[in-house]
Amino acid sequence: GIGRPGVSTAALLLTAASGGGLVAYADSAAESAPEPSQNAPKKKVLVLGTGWAGTSFLKNLDCSQYEVKVISPRNYFAFTPLLPSVTCGTVEPRSIIEPIRRMFEKKSKDVTFYEAECFKIDASKKTVHCRSAVGTNLDGNGDFLLDYDYLVVALGATVNTFNTPGVLEHCHFLKEVEDAQKIRRSVIDCFEKASLPNISEEEKRKTLHFVVIGGGPTGVEFAAELHDFLVEDLVKLYPAIQEFVKITIIQSGEHILNMFDERIAAFAEEKFQRDGIEVATGFRVVRVSDDLITMKSKSVGEEVSVPYGLAVWSAGIGTRPVIMDFMQQIGQTNRRALATNEWLRVRECESVYAIGDCATVSQRKIMDDISMVFKMADKDNSGTLTLKEIYDVLEDICLRYPQVELYMKSMHMLDIADLIKGAIGDAHKESMVVNIEEFKKALSHVDSQVKSAPATAQVASQQGNYLAECFNKMDKCKEQPEGPLRMTGGSGRHFFRPFRYKHLGQFAPLGGEQAAAELPGDWVSMGHSTQWLWYSVYASKQVSWRTRVLVVSDWTRRFVFGRDSSRI
Ligand code: FAD
Repeated sequence: GIGRPGVSTAALLLTAASGGGLVAYADSAAESAPEPSQNAPKKKVLVLGTGWAGTSFLKNLDCSQYEVKVISPRNYFAFTPLLPSVTCGTVEPRSIIEPIRRMFEKKSKDVTFYEAECFKIDASKKTVHCRSAVGTNLDGNGDFLLDYDYLVVALGATVNTFNTPGVLEHCHFLKEVEDAQKIRRSVIDCFEKASLPNISEEEKRKTLHFVVIGGGPTGVEFAAELHDFLVEDLVKLYPAIQEFVKITIIQSGEHILNMFDERIAAFAEEKFQRDGIEVATGFRVVRVSDDLITMKSKSVGEEVSVPYGLAVWSAGIGTRPVIMDFMQQIGQTNRRALATNEWLRVRECESVYAIGDCATVSQRKIMDDISMVFKMADKDNSGTLTLKEIYDVLEDICLRYPQVELYMKSMHMLDIADLIKGAIGDAHKESMVVNIEEFKKALSHVDSQVKSAPATAQVASQQGNYLAECFNKMDKCKEQPEGPLRMTGGSGRHFFRPFRYKHLGQFAPLGGEQAAAELPGDWVSMGHSTQWLWYSVYASKQVSWRTRVLVVSDWTRRFVFGRDSSRI
């Protein structure tokens, strides 16, 4: 339940400042909602994708209220944060996936799953074109059409090669479970190849040069896993060739892990230097051939080519073709992801919602919104508001921005009284008017910018959860809207509070039983103890007891017996 604590604080602060005499709060006009009918057929909800966003939506949705259909070409959910661990056999692939039908076994009466790919969204006809890999129709193709009342697009993202020549043909990617399995086989292939007789030293060096392109969390974690695999297992199994092994990370920015706190980036770079992992910063890869990676120095502009045995490209995420096609239909061109409003509805598109990596919430500055709310309230353009008006405005702002609400709650009563006293200035108590500019100045103490949410599992699952909650209370909120006043598109209130991302921190495993973590409140933690924190968080975040037990037993197996280097 989302209450209105900000209003009671606002009421208190206004009471304190005006010496009582508070005008009673009356909810502004709710939108007229259609009468819910007892026997109306259930609305059809179609969910595209069973990744972090899609499964979080489905888990939290009260599926008995809707007719739910789900489409995905993979009939399982993959716990992507552990994909780098799969590349070297620290964790087995089946330990990090959970079958979709098992996940929603208890909801199977209300949820229908189709293993198929969606290749076209037609929002004007409210239909989605799908294709199964297995031909089911008379003409042998597996195409079919599904209609919807509400569409939830949770298709994730694809890799972004930035059209760099040769990347698609010669590099590995690390997005799917199959990618991690392929990398694992190729790493072992390199070691077996380099162990063959009649291989020159130069060829050995080339074959055992592992290059990671992209110094973000995925690339860094893969490099760290590979290094561990090497020093903990492979040196014992391939002692004759260990001196030829080299790992390089190529990063176009100044530092690796540049989305983390700079202390973490520095710690990672120092650790990698000690481990002998080369970090080439300030280089952009411009070409990849079957045996050479060519990169260009950003400062000098000079090109350098390095021979390699295996390259993993993890330099950014791109748009899936089906999303690109949909964006073109609705006029959202030249974007990486679908733009949604703060309620996660695709802009200019009724009944279509987008969550996770395929979407971005258009963010506005808090103070811009606050100014707009004041402008709307100041109908006579006098630059002042009555207490009743300012009371409504505060309630609206608290609904839009939980951090304003928190700020108000955390303030001492005295400060609040001062704040209001300052804002009211010399105005007579009887007229109870507040100077808008003064009041805005007082509010600008609050964190003035909403940070845009990154493309992470954390954001995707919070969005899925939020949207499911909105769907669950759709009928109730149509009658009693709980959102802020509409700034555009009609009068009255929004049905729901807007989505707000709550950052819970992030990890970067760095190998050698060490990790770094950035926790809320500017906390940074690094070293061995953080690795144990990582183990406990990732064990607890598993989507089922089955995968939790499998993952923990894989970790234990690795501690006791080492990793399996068989090439299967
Ligand atoms: P996805 O999880 O990618 O799901 C997309 C779904 O859509 C899949 O089920 C897919 O099969 C389906 N699909 C694709 N195409 C179609 C189609 N045409 N029709 C129907 N269905 C389709 N984030 C973190 O927060 N912490 C981490 O530690 C972390 N580590 C990561 C490590 C790796 C190696 C990777 C690749 C990512 C990592 N991420 C991490 C990011 C995180 O995985 C993504 O942000 C998250 O998966 C996004 O969720 P999503 O549901 O939008 O997309």
